[in-house]
Amino acid sequence: MRGVILQSPGDVRVADRPDPKIEQPTDAIIRLSATCVCGSDLWPYRGAEDHGPMVPMGHEYVGVVEEVGNEVTTIKPGQFVVGSFWACDNTCEICRAGYQAYCVNRTLMGMIGTQAELARIPLADGTLVATPGTPDAELIPSLLAASDVLGTGWFAAVAAEAGPGKTVAVVGDGAVGLLGVLAAKQLGAERIIAMSRHESRQQLAREFGATDIVTERGDEGVARVKELTGGLGAHSVIEAVGTQQSIQQAIGATRPGGHLGFVGYTFDAAIPGAELFNAGIHVHGGPAPVRRFLPELIDLIWNRQIDPGKVFDLHLPLEDAAEGYRAMDERRAIKTLLKP
Ligand SMILES: [Zn+2]
Ligand SMILES: [Zn+2]
Repeated sequence: MRGVILQSPGDVRVADRPDPKIEQPTDAIIRLSATCVCGSDLWPYRGAEDHGPMVPMGHEYVGVVEEVGNEVTTIKPGQFVVGSFWACDNTCEICRAGYQAYCVNRTLMGMIGTQAELARIPLADGTLVATPGTPDAELIPSLLAASDVLGTGWFAAVAAEAGPGKTVAVVGDGAVGLLGVLAAKQLGAERIIAMSRHESRQQLAREFGATDIVTERGDEGVARVKELTGGLGAHSVIEAVGTQQSIQQAIGATRPGGHLGFVGYTFDAAIPGAELFNAGIHVHGGPAPVRRFLPELIDLIWNRQIDPGKVFDLHLPLEDAAEGYRAMDERRAIKTLLKP
């Protein structure tokens, strides 16, 4: 099969990779209908994270089940399925509490690399959710968004306790931030402040439900959010970037007693203890347990109540993956969909 590998930082290639095989009786093999490039893929692409040479890439996926292992009982060949970037059993105590990204038997799909024609999905019964039928082509980008960015934005909005009567501020105008706006709107937030300085992204944020746009960043961004909220800060803040500045901006924009949901992938930002201590806020986040939300999100997409697939503003054949990475790295594209 053809699949994306990162040869070395900045060098994305599409190469022949071995077809995946059933390795465990709980595995499934799917044929990808669509896959995509994630903001988090840009960390190794930029060399900020060293994964060594020739690593398979990709952890977001939708597709049709080709084959299942002999212990798979609910997922069947021919079904169209959506899964998350952590494979999980969905039965352990952590999964049953709704934290499937921390399943005791989890496998990171990025290690498998779903930017490919085929992928092995571990723990298929727990990981995959089948759609009610074969989706119309126009629904596929939205279903793919559910695999990570929508589920992650949704978790952030839930963690930030977005809801009726609340003002929600969203730090980050990437796909996750924009879908955090959509999630906050769906959860009934009264006012949604999107922090963005890019016109096309501001436009999409407004389409998804943003009521205010703040272009300032850092301390100035915090001051602007306070100005818009009677000097108090937002009830709910979504952090969807993961840099030092964005995290401090998010803490600063949350009012005392408010909730911060942080999902921006971070590996080297440090939260100053005194700043967090004196903020007096609830903080909840981390890798999103997307699997918890998949049935609900698939339902909303299937019934055309939400259209998160709009974040894919660049659609390319899998073979053009390198351009897909470049466009995101240069911020010419919000998110690249790759069609195997
Ligand atoms: Zn992702
Ligand atoms: Zn589990």
